[in-house]
Amino acid sequence: MTQLAGRKALVTGGSRGIGREICRALAAQGASVAVNYRTSPEGAEDVVKDITSADGEAFAVEADVADPDAAQALVKTAAERLGGLDILVNNAGITRDGLLMRMSTDDWDAVHQTNLRGTFLVTKAAARHLLRSEQGRVVNITSVVGVMGNAGQANYAAAKAGIIGFTKAVARELASRKVTVNAVAPGFITTDITADLSEAQVEGVLAQIPLARLAGPEEVAPVVAFLCGPGAGYITGQTIHVDGGLVMV
Ligand code: NAP
Repeated sequence: MTQLAGRKALVTGGSRGIGREICRALAAQGASVAVNYRTSPEGAEDVVKDITSADGEAFAVEADVADPDAAQALVKTAAERLGGLDILVNNAGITRDGLLMRMSTDDWDAVHQTNLRGTFLVTKAAARHLLRSEQGRVVNITSVVGVMGNAGQANYAAAKAGIIGFTKAVARELASRKVTVNAVAPGFITTDITADLSEAQVEGVLAQIPLARLAGPEEVAPVVAFLCGPGAGYITGQTIHVDGGLVMV
């Protein structure tokens, strides 16, 4: 499939988990991909190797998306090396779980800074490049937790709900230049983020999922790739759930 041939993409947090699969899915459809990482250069280089050994184009770029200068430099490097930017996937995210009454301000701030502020900073820096594209696409990775809440994740739920509001506002701002802006809300996906769930927690979650299983990151990536492609040109401001039916809206 070459639906994204010639497209230039930046994926934040592309070194592991869902971001890694998004990089691979975009490249498999022909996009050139800037793979952002923060602490995992080896992970990012593995993704690059996977893509280039299949005759795709990719390179790794280090940046902390929560840092305004770093976010700016990330977009600058990606756009210079790619020769522009058509696709931005804001995937970088962290959790710092804890019950409200025990949650530290640092844990609140850290989660907001990476998930929400990072999405704002990278999108803002990328906007002028996307506006020049014939088919600008932004996909923000939110979570079912931003829609339904989750005990022990007030910081994460608030940041992910913020991403949904941000997505709608920016979709309206950029629509006149044909840039689409959507969110994808994964449910429970087997990555490092969910690796620490206890057996009892997993059983509790499974009981609420109509499809009665967790998913792999490779089940989220094709939805992101679709939203980045020509078939999704009339979809904007939406949040697409990839959650086995956990949330039905
Ligand atoms: P993961 O396996 O822990 O990977 C997180 C990725 O984000 C890594 O590539 C990491 O890079 C990067 N990252 C973290 N902080 C960063 C920063 N400040 N700047 C740049 N990159 C940063 O997590 P995941 O499960 O794939 O999650 C990916 C996204 O999906 C997140 O937004 C998460 O909230 C969301 N999500 C996940 C689930 C799930 O069940 N797994 C469900 C719903 C939503 P380094 O390794 O280089 O530090």
